[in-house]
Amino acid sequence: GVLGSGDFARSLAVRLVCSGFKVVVGSRNPKRKASLFPAAAEVTFQAEAVKKADVIFVAIFREHYSTLCDLADVLAGKILVDVSNNTEINHHKESNAEYLASLFPACTVVKGFNVISAWTLQSGARDGNKQVLICSNNQEAKRTIAEIAQVMGFTPVDMGCMSSACEIENIPLRLLPAWKIPIFLALGLFLCFFTYNLIRQVIHPYIREQKNKLYKIPIEVVNTTLPCVSYVMLSLVYLPGVLAACSQLYYGTKYRRFPDWLDQWLQHRKQIGLLSFLCAALHAVYSLCLPMRRSHRYLLIDTAVKQAVEKKMTIWVEEEVWRMEIYISVGIIALGLLSLLAITSLPSIANSLNWREFSFIQ
Ligand code: NAP
Repeated sequence: GVLGSGDFARSLAVRLVCSGFKVVVGSRNPKRKASLFPAAAEVTFQAEAVKKADVIFVAIFREHYSTLCDLADVLAGKILVDVSNNTEINHHKESNAEYLASLFPACTVVKGFNVISAWTLQSGARDGNKQVLICSNNQEAKRTIAEIAQVMGFTPVDMGCMSSACEIENIPLRLLPAWKIPIFLALGLFLCFFTYNLIRQVIHPYIREQKNKLYKIPIEVVNTTLPCVSYVMLSLVYLPGVLAACSQLYYGTKYRRFPDWLDQWLQHRKQIGLLSFLCAALHAVYSLCLPMRRSHRYLLIDTAVKQAVEKKMTIWVEEEVWRMEIYISVGIIALGLLSLLAITSLPSIANSLNWREFSFIQ
């Protein structure tokens, strides 16, 4: 049974019908909504639908749960699946699922499916997140919903009892929690190196020789800043491992907990490494664009004119030519190796490697 006829209810009904379940939808306006559902799903009034189903997905918003109170008698003894999400983290004191359970004490409430979007439900489990997080105080009901999720092609994950509902409801609202520290770190480093390079390449020439080099800010200064950030970030990926090893040697055991700051640092290594790769990749793109700039063309023509005036045939400096060839070649190889590290740190790739292969690449 599905209560509600909105986006989520429709996608859920389609997926359930495709997975071989008999579906009955409960709506306040069944006549108007019936055409939106697959022909195999029966669309009827809420009370009728509830009578016909033992497992009922409540696909309506928390604010409207109280409008279901008239159905309390028919709902008694049934399993209610709370699929709802909130608009803010910890918006209410109690989770939506706990609130639903308090409204219908004679029902068994299971929290689940809220981390799956209507889109994922419709496009099938192959496209998008495959995990369905489930929690409930009733083991039997939880098992029933886990089996339904499995038949629908999802991977049920048992998150324990109802007190986990709040955590499950917060998951779709999180904004890259593991990335906050690494992003602030990268921005802080960028700001420091950018200021240093700005002083060196723009402010210093202006003070010393009254030369206006402001045009260097958008590309040249940024381009010299990016690899500095990339190198420091890359070293910050491996430094905590060294510190952890030193701590284990110092205390003579690997069973002692690391201090919190080191623990946090170790947990953010992947994100720090990926940001290091991002900076390196941007540096490569900026470097490739250097000859495209008008300033570069003017300086090149200026040099050619000067050369002609001085009647010089060539300005070829063998040492500089070699230095640049090797410099770029090593840069390309470094970027290639960093790409390898970045790719193998992605979960889908990392999961296909065993520990020996992973540490070999690292
Ligand atoms: P929606 O399109 O606005 O549909 C809500 C449905 O609630 C309406 O179609 C309505 O169906 C029903 N309803 C029952 N009593 C109501 C009342 N008193 N006032 C207004 N509507 C009432 O919302 P939705 O996107 O399907 O979301 C439904 C639930 O699924 C929400 O709790 C949401 O957090 C959750 N969810 C949605 C998604 C998603 O991708 N959309 C993902 C995860 C979780 P009738 O008019 O037929 O009664």
